[in-house]
Amino acid sequence: MKKDTRLTHAGLDPHNNHGVVNPPVYHASTILYPTVEALEQAERTPFEGTRYGRRGTPTTFALEEAVAALEGGYRSIAVPSGLSAITTALMAFLKSGDHLLMVDTTYQPTRAFCNTVLAGFGVETTYYDPMADIGPLLRPNTKVVFLESPGSQTFEVQDVPAAAKAARAAGAVSMIDNTWSAGLYFSPFEHGVDISIQAATKYIVGHSDVMLGTITTTKDTFVRTKRAASLLGTSAAPDDCYLALRGLRTLSVRLARHQESALAIARWLENRPEVAHVLHPALPNCPGHEIWKRDFTGSNGLLSVVLEDYAKEAVTAMLDGMRLFSMGYSWGGYESLIIPFTPHTARTATKWLPSGPCLRLHCGLEDVSDLMEDLEKGFERLNAGR
Ligand SMILES: *Cc1c(COP(=O)(O)O)cnc(C)c1O
Repeated sequence: MKKDTRLTHAGLDPHNNHGVVNPPVYHASTILYPTVEALEQAERTPFEGTRYGRRGTPTTFALEEAVAALEGGYRSIAVPSGLSAITTALMAFLKSGDHLLMVDTTYQPTRAFCNTVLAGFGVETTYYDPMADIGPLLRPNTKVVFLESPGSQTFEVQDVPAAAKAARAAGAVSMIDNTWSAGLYFSPFEHGVDISIQAATKYIVGHSDVMLGTITTTKDTFVRTKRAASLLGTSAAPDDCYLALRGLRTLSVRLARHQESALAIARWLENRPEVAHVLHPALPNCPGHEIWKRDFTGSNGLLSVVLEDYAKEAVTAMLDGMRLFSMGYSWGGYESLIIPFTPHTARTATKWLPSGPCLRLHCGLEDVSDLMEDLEKGFERLNAGR
């Protein structure tokens, strides 16, 4: 079945639920066993079904089933945030003395986790250029190769199949932060990746009201990941799983609109005199654009711009007066967002010195002409402050 069909039907079981279309929200800590035999059976299959609330309820499992179907993986594990999905997967496969290859353009809290918690546990991290061949960087003790493509904020597109293949040949597990594609426009498992992580907080939930993460695995990597998730003691909340499952049903139609608006705005911005550079993987000047065309089937609502050399006060005047593009972290909700950023301070393997101030935009579901007007008025304030 095609992804849109999977998104519509995965995780549903109405005829075991009075015919109700959506899975109910089960709130639970204690799960009761009717007999000693049932109790012992549960012991024999520690990662199957409901045992105890922390391990999930049928609501959790419905979401996990749907995300696994979306991503094309073996099984999925819901955790309380996207960052928790990243840290859980890394902890599952790394121990003291191991080496981790981490892409230089990773989400910044992932970098902070490697530099503090993992470093404290004796795991060494090497950051690599997203455009580089990772082959020469692999060491005998490299246990994980972590990818994120397109990269956070600047959208360099990695050659995922090549990196996954090199990792596998070296006996390392490959993991990708697949949040950008929402699992819809990129299929990691078809490109050789072992573990796909999403901040479901972003497009799966899609309404800026839930924190949630998912870790989707191959058959070989499932038990180790699931054990780590259980032992780290995190547990995705049932109401949040319900909202994520509800968001998932409209993921495809929402993302199509986000994509269309962001592309229109990216092309419009390319012709604005205030803008030095537009960053978006569908634009030919994006590093890895050809790979994006080869491996992805679409793009999302994100784009970044490097402005001409404007003073901070001018940028502040632009941002403070925006009406539709609000300032705030995260993205993937229905609303438009804008945020200043400084990519050069978050890199170590590569240099990225922008010629002017940088802004990241998330184009929401508003009418695109209203969004352009908001930006146009913003540019008037920018120029007035020059
Ligand atoms: C937001 C984000 C995360 C973290 O997700 P949270 O749910 O906010 O913890 C991880 N990776 C990427 C690429 C993100 O954009």
